[in-house]
Amino acid sequence: MSESKEVYDLSDLRSWSDGSASLDPPARLAVIGDPVKHSRSPQMHNPALEEAGKEGQYVRIHVTPEEVEEALDLMAQAEFVGTNVTIPHKGAVHAAMDDVTEVAQRIGAVNTVVFEDGAKIGHNTDAPGLKKAIREEFSMDLTDLRIMVLGAGGGAGKAASVQCAMDHCDRLVLVNRTVEKAQALAAELEELLTDPDRLEGPADRLKAIPWEEKEMERELDQIDLIINATSIGMKRTDPVVVPDALLAPHHLVYDMVYAPARTRLMADAESAGARAANGLGMLLWQGVLAYEFWFPEKAPVDAMRKGLHASL
Ligand code: NAP
Repeated sequence: MSESKEVYDLSDLRSWSDGSASLDPPARLAVIGDPVKHSRSPQMHNPALEEAGKEGQYVRIHVTPEEVEEALDLMAQAEFVGTNVTIPHKGAVHAAMDDVTEVAQRIGAVNTVVFEDGAKIGHNTDAPGLKKAIREEFSMDLTDLRIMVLGAGGGAGKAASVQCAMDHCDRLVLVNRTVEKAQALAAELEELLTDPDRLEGPADRLKAIPWEEKEMERELDQIDLIINATSIGMKRTDPVVVPDALLAPHHLVYDMVYAPARTRLMADAESAGARAANGLGMLLWQGVLAYEFWFPEKAPVDAMRKGLHASL
């Protein structure tokens, strides 16, 4: 395998046939973003490609917002199988697709593209990646849980909320600092959570509340799974996500943050007797599901997990 550049850009894509000639095996998959240097996806996908004996490698490509459409066209022409998409392009890529899956449509964001017979097909694997991670970490399914999503108005929070609603979870409480975003999302998700057989009724089953301690406290007795979908917890100086006095042994806490590996929220949850997990599983499973859209076979999950852990 010849050494690829740490990050490619649009000018590389424009002359890809020259640039890629020296790559062996050729680049067939990528992650595009702005910035993109931080992405750990190559460390997860290259071991998978190698393990599966695929003739291709996975690279990072720096693409600015103005360059998204051209970059996708050039990648299709250069016979890429597909690409991942990271911040801030998930919405723009969604708009540039020929077709998208239901979950990507509901979220309005695409993190995985498949170039297929001249068409660009958009998927969102963040949402089902979270579902798989919850299953793996807690041996529970979203459908059986009463769930609070903190930061529901952000990109990751919307993905989580849509998946919970599509799985018809028992209860969904959307919390956001800018409460209007949570309210707008609740209005979009209402149709998915109206089956009359579950709990009390639609009003209580789906709720949007502001990011306030009193409001959270009122709900947390009736919540099983707490998902942190904000970036709070990445820095030591960050504020608390949920005051520790509100955490109880019956809670499952899923923190989408994975660096540090044990966040303050996780530590507080465990001190309260609750179970907690970080976001690494979600990162792994979104990659596994992307691989399985690109190739019609089971992904080599162990190789991906090993590569991801080694990258940290
Ligand atoms: P984003 O779109 O910028 O959303 C940020 C969310 O956090 C918004 O809801 C925002 O509320 C809220 N927020 C930010 N600062 C806050 C504060 N001080 N107090 C209360 N709320 C605050 O970001 P994103 O792309 O969704 O990513 C969020 C986090 O999830 C990041 O840490 C990212 O790395 C992580 N993530 C992890 C995975 C994984 O696989 N584990 C996947 C995707 C994302 P407002 O709407 O009021 O601004």
